[in-house]
Amino acid sequence: MQKYDVIIIGGGVSGLSCAITLGSAGPKMELAADKKVLVIDAGKSHLNMAELHNVPGIAEGTKGPELLASLAQRAEAYENVSIMQGTVASVSGTAGDFKVTTESAETFEADIVVFANGMQTNAVEGIGAAIVDHIRAPRPGMVMIENHNGIIGEGKYVTGCAAGATSMFASAAGYGAQTATDIISSWAGKYTVIHDILTKG
Ligand SMILES: Cc1cc2nc3c(=O)[nH]c(=O)nc-3n(C[C@H](O)[C@H](O)[C@H](O)COP(=O)(O)OP(=O)(O)OC[C@H]3O[C@@H](n4cnc5c(N)ncnc54)[C@H](O)[C@@H]3O)c2cc1C
Repeated sequence: MQKYDVIIIGGGVSGLSCAITLGSAGPKMELAADKKVLVIDAGKSHLNMAELHNVPGIAEGTKGPELLASLAQRAEAYENVSIMQGTVASVSGTAGDFKVTTESAETFEADIVVFANGMQTNAVEGIGAAIVDHIRAPRPGMVMIENHNGIIGEGKYVTGCAAGATSMFASAAGYGAQTATDIISSWAGKYTVIHDILTKG
């Protein structure tokens, strides 16, 4: 059975943003260099339906599916990040020893699990927290996972709209980056951000 440091359930905006920030730590921090990250995605991101005119830093009129593809490409450019298509059916175990099983009965092990599965259904067995009405939903029927500041329990994180972020690209992407930063900080034992500095000349 393949073992990962982090498995991210959902490869939409927040999941890919989380993967990109985790991946970016690899070349910069010795303790993150060997951390393996797997994103498992069912391919139903809300971004697939969007055309963007209000996202800071993203060109006016960018089409959601194209942006999603470029985020996935960016994430996979990091050696330690891989993405697979699949639907997670269940998560069992405890921090350091989670088992993540897909609907096609593939099982992967992980130290840390991140739920980035959006606001649509959250039908994963073993989440370990209540599924409640979304606090910032634009329409009825949207749900989120109850959490405390993005944490469900030890080693279990939730991010993006699944955590209660408002349904805006920037909010979901920002939450994903914050979750990754929290994870990196837990590895480092102190609060740590991954920043690149402008080189002169
Ligand atoms: C019609 C529409 C228009 C929009 N327009 C704009 C806009 O103009 N500007 C703007 O800022 N935002 C817009 N948005 C919002 C933006 O798309 C969302 O804020 C963003 O996609 C949320 O990111 P997320 O990662 O939380 O969820 P998503 O991007 O929805 O990703 C969740 C992912 O988790 C996957 N998943 C779910 N369950 C499982 C499972 N069990 N196993 C594996 N994977 C799973 C899903 O398939 C999906 O890929 C729009 C949304 C919609 C629907």
